[in-house]
Amino acid sequence: MWVIYLDYQATTPCDARVIAEMLPYFSAEFGNPNSPHLLGRHAADAVDTARGRVAALIGAQPGEVLFSSGATESNNLAILGIHELPGCRGKRVITSPIEHKSVLGPCFRLREDGWEVDLLRVDRQGNVDLEHLTALLARGATLVTVQASNSEIGTMQEIPVVAEIGHASGAAVHCDATQSVGKVQVNVDELGVDLLSFSAHKLCGPKGIGALYVRGGFAQRSLSPLAFGGGQEGGLRPGTPNVPGIVGFGKACELCQGEMSGESERVVALRDELERLLEETIPGIRFNGALKSRLPGCSSVTFPGIEADALLANLPGVALSTGSACSSGALEPSHVLTAIGISREDAYSTIRIGMGRYTSREEVEQASCLIEKAYSTLVALQETDTQGRQPEPRSL
Ligand code: PMP
Repeated sequence: MWVIYLDYQATTPCDARVIAEMLPYFSAEFGNPNSPHLLGRHAADAVDTARGRVAALIGAQPGEVLFSSGATESNNLAILGIHELPGCRGKRVITSPIEHKSVLGPCFRLREDGWEVDLLRVDRQGNVDLEHLTALLARGATLVTVQASNSEIGTMQEIPVVAEIGHASGAAVHCDATQSVGKVQVNVDELGVDLLSFSAHKLCGPKGIGALYVRGGFAQRSLSPLAFGGGQEGGLRPGTPNVPGIVGFGKACELCQGEMSGESERVVALRDELERLLEETIPGIRFNGALKSRLPGCSSVTFPGIEADALLANLPGVALSTGSACSSGALEPSHVLTAIGISREDAYSTIRIGMGRYTSREEVEQASCLIEKAYSTLVALQETDTQGRQPEPRSL
């Protein structure tokens, strides 16, 4: 079925150049990189090349990039891996209430072991309150974890300042940069973070492969493993490496490095155009997040008085979502939207639009027409419904 894909924050299509690079590693080059023979060495060389390409995209050394199954695992390893270090029990982590669930989940897990978990204040645009961070750090913390950008509203945080404040109090600093890497410039030295998570399927690479950047190299054991039984990835992430996935991740990062800035400019123009078209036709529409400091392809749109689920049900030709794919299906409104002060009612009236590498101007124009049509249908239905439910005049 033909659809206009506007859900690039949930996942991205895998680039054909990435697939081509991966294919031999499913067939002729099927070796295990830990095997001593020629096939094994070929696979190990491919993993080394990919590690170099992934590291280059974020300005890291290859030995600082650990391969995982995705950003969920990287976030868990960063947060719980610190907690498992000897002498680290009963400490404190500071994070924000608008983090992805794969950050909030492990942080709340730490509470069960007696850790304090403090949530930073965020403003209506989704910017974390840096003065609150300084105040909270007066009592010190083991870890500060703040995302680079938000997957629902696109707001980008001032990570270099977060890292400076965190380090001044002796805390380690982790950043979930899953939505930023490959879309905007991410350089670990400029950010100043100790740990950084990201994932291939958000940057036109394959699913099921991600990375955790560990400053100084993951082999130095500044984290404890969460799984045991093998020596791969310095023993920090044992298990046979996903060679085709790693190769694809490497190629996807190499492509982003060359094409990212032109692509971002094009995608920003498309997003601005879509917002302009929607604003022209839909009364009272609102856009959420830090509008001047947002991820290029991300638009969070509130249609007051309209249920977002009903809107999407009337848009079968457009792939859109109401929030993070990991929480969709949940009855609760988005934790991100409510944390930035949007009412529950407006949160239920909000959709997330995500544009990226393959989004065209024609698709944006068609989508805006389809959205406007679906919106008008629902408004007309509501009006009929309200009129239909007018109370009958009572006979006295
Ligand atoms: N962090 C953020 C900000 C995300 O958007 C996502 C994916 N929705 C994740 C983490 C989890 O990534 P993965 O699917 O690779 O586990």
